[in-house]
Amino acid sequence: MRVISALKELSSFVFSINIEEKSIGFVPTMGALHKGHLSLIRRSIEENNVTIVSIFVNPLQFNDSKDLEKYPRTLREDLDLLRNLSVDIVFTPSEKDFYNTKPLVSINFGGMAQRLEGKFRKGHFEGVGVVVSKLLHLAMPSKAYFGLKDLQQYLLIKQMCQDLSFPCEIVGVETEREPSGLALSSRNRRLSTEGLEVASNIYKGLTIIEEGIRLEKSLESLLSKAKL
Ligand code: AMP
Repeated sequence: MRVISALKELSSFVFSINIEEKSIGFVPTMGALHKGHLSLIRRSIEENNVTIVSIFVNPLQFNDSKDLEKYPRTLREDLDLLRNLSVDIVFTPSEKDFYNTKPLVSINFGGMAQRLEGKFRKGHFEGVGVVVSKLLHLAMPSKAYFGLKDLQQYLLIKQMCQDLSFPCEIVGVETEREPSGLALSSRNRRLSTEGLEVASNIYKGLTIIEEGIRLEKSLESLLSKAKL
């Protein structure tokens, strides 16, 4: 496994892989890796000749500076996990190198980014659009893997790649969960025992509603049942 920080070094590696006509699979992450990330990476290893994983906490997608500051950073443990999976390249650019000049261009997804998560995180998806575009240009993968846990992000990235003709297939991967049903997330390590329990109730409530809708029960009765 090779760890690359310089953008130019990644480009030369990608150039050599392209000459050999090998396929590249790419998994962008912000690190603090868990089994959810690993399922994306395993899928990439299965489906491609070479797998590149990036670890970069992207400041552009944080609308809260405290959240950025507190975001877990566990590079040493991450590299150990990736070495065990036999990942080919880990790309760990520095913020200074990656955003050598602050981008003036932003990705405007229109109404699709204004609702759901976008409603509560102003500018988040625009920042995601910029980082993913830059990473896809650098890694030049045939396939890039995104978690369906972040469904809105997956759909927006798919749309961006289609609209801007990125020569890359966006693959959605199922959500990995705790036995309690809570989706694995790097941020979970910041939750207390009580917080973890409350968070897992959200999934349980949604599951009750989903099952009820299938059985054509009224939404009102399901909502009050889910609240219990
Ligand atoms: P992040 O490091 O949080 O930016 O996540 C990197 C990628 O891993 C994104 O495509 C996420 O949707 C995906 N991911 C995060 N958690 C999970 C999970 N529990 N199951 C599947 N994919 C996940």
